[in-house]
Amino acid sequence: MTSKVNLEKVESIPKSIDEGILYVSERFKVAAHLCPCGCLTKIITPLGPHEWSLSVKAGKPSLYPSVGNWQLPCRTHYWIRDGKIEWSYSWTDKEIKHGRAREQKKLKEYYSSKNRGVKKPFWRRFLKWIEQKWFYYTSA
Ligand SMILES: [Zn+2]
Repeated sequence: MTSKVNLEKVESIPKSIDEGILYVSERFKVAAHLCPCGCLTKIITPLGPHEWSLSVKAGKPSLYPSVGNWQLPCRTHYWIRDGKIEWSYSWTDKEIKHGRAREQKKLKEYYSSKNRGVKKPFWRRFLKWIEQKWFYYTSA
């Protein structure tokens, strides 16, 4: 697990990226990082008024809103704030003992109330579009 996120400004997002770095391409209005849970999935966050917004304070990046990787097997959900990963749920030992059923229930409730299936298809379409765009630019 990584807990710190450094900002790195790039022309376009490199094909292979490192853990603990938020790559930001102002040119393509997109940011990318590896999932901090350790699964090393490349997480792409388009930047814009209807997507994520990036703010930088003393060189430390913050992304708004949170990043919810519920489409990944790890189903992580966290904030990137002031160059740090803040997990959206912190589990006490007791809660962990209660098992994943309760976690799943909470997550399910959270996502159904906050995201209600609106964002996911859009995000997926956008992701695909961005990937195609990059592929074009990075292989040119
Ligand atoms: Zn992960």
